[in-house]
Amino acid sequence: MYRVGNGIDFHKLEINGARPFILGGYIIDTEWSLIGHSDADILLHAISDAILGALALGDIGDYFPDTDPENKNMNSVKIIQKVLGLLTGKKFEIVNVDSTIMAEKPKIAPHRSGITESLSAILKIDSGKISVKATTTEKMGALGRSEGIGVFSTVLLKQK
Ligand SMILES: [Zn+2]
Repeated sequence: MYRVGNGIDFHKLEINGARPFILGGYIIDTEWSLIGHSDADILLHAISDAILGALALGDIGDYFPDTDPENKNMNSVKIIQKVLGLLTGKKFEIVNVDSTIMAEKPKIAPHRSGITESLSAILKIDSGKISVKATTTEKMGALGRSEGIGVFSTVLLKQK
């Protein structure tokens, strides 16, 4: 049996040298950082929601409410590990995951392979099953003004 799911997430951007910019567990060296209750790893959040969506198990807010002080500055690897536990508990595995990062700043393209390798280690699947793409919004709207970034992820699961 196959199941497909999608996840979407947005976080605001700020210039804050004290806070690392983390995408898929990979730290990008930039003056920009993402604002969030957790470590704001928007890519892990979108993939986590895509997996939960495919399993029809709600969304990450159900498991890690942003009102809970316990989740403040939380490493999002913990979030996706919880989700991967639910996945294996239901005897599913990831067939492939495809993500598109919508960002004007910082430039994502030079970091694509680093992000993919990091995701491969976190998801424990071959990097050939992981696609990371990036686009801009042609300077349109809030994302185009670098007020934030967005990520859209799709995942296909197969029951073992
Ligand atoms: Zn998020």
